[in-house]
Amino acid sequence: MRKKTFAWTSLLMLLVLLFSGCSKPDPLKVVYPETGKSRSAKLTIIFDDGYKDNFTEAFPIMRNVNVPGVIALVTSKIGADPGYLTVEDCQLLWDNGWDLVSHTKTHQMLSLLDQEALTLELQESSEWIRNQGWNTTVLVSPYGAYNPDVIKKAQEYYRYHRALTNTFDTWPPQDSWRLGASEVFGGSEKTTPAEVKQWINYAYQNGLWLTLLFHHVGDEPASRFYYPLAEFREIIEYAANHPIAKVTYRSALGF
Ligand SMILES: [Zn+2]
Repeated sequence: MRKKTFAWTSLLMLLVLLFSGCSKPDPLKVVYPETGKSRSAKLTIIFDDGYKDNFTEAFPIMRNVNVPGVIALVTSKIGADPGYLTVEDCQLLWDNGWDLVSHTKTHQMLSLLDQEALTLELQESSEWIRNQGWNTTVLVSPYGAYNPDVIKKAQEYYRYHRALTNTFDTWPPQDSWRLGASEVFGGSEKTTPAEVKQWINYAYQNGLWLTLLFHHVGDEPASRFYYPLAEFREIIEYAANHPIAKVTYRSALGF
């Protein structure tokens, strides 16, 4: 009896060895096993500030694999500064299922503003986006800097606020006024695609919501705010092939 068990075990091990030797697993296809929580797991890709390369570089890569994104717009820059998106760019993104949310009017540190300046930053950016026909209920604080006064004022014009938490959110989110984002850096402190894949797998296994934050996408200059194209493509293709739900704020939060 003991001998038979041993024989079967050996055969199984031989088969495992044979298979692992014959075909190397495609790294894009390797995902952590589904758990009971995996169905509520979510992944959101967000770009802060509204730079032109989000449209010229990131959008084609993401559209190609059917992954929509979110852009947090500094509204005074849109259509006014050549380094930023135009209204037409934004419209095309919106029509492709992307979200356009507020990153204030002029990108001030909100926690330093008086009530009047704070109102201007939050109200005018919200109204500008809504007047374009892009429904938004999300505010993203510049520099992740906010305080209770900022949140109180934000509650007059928004239903959600995204901070810079560098951690995962639960689903549904525990705090509508502190939605998370995990920054993906370029330059010398680069966040590697391998790290990001681990985050995605962790979120998937644990039923969490991961929001990946980028700024610029492009190879030049070498800066923490520019994420190189090849690595960006690697992350997006991994996400596209991954069973985790890819969501925007409007598709996840339902507005
Ligand atoms: Zn910003």
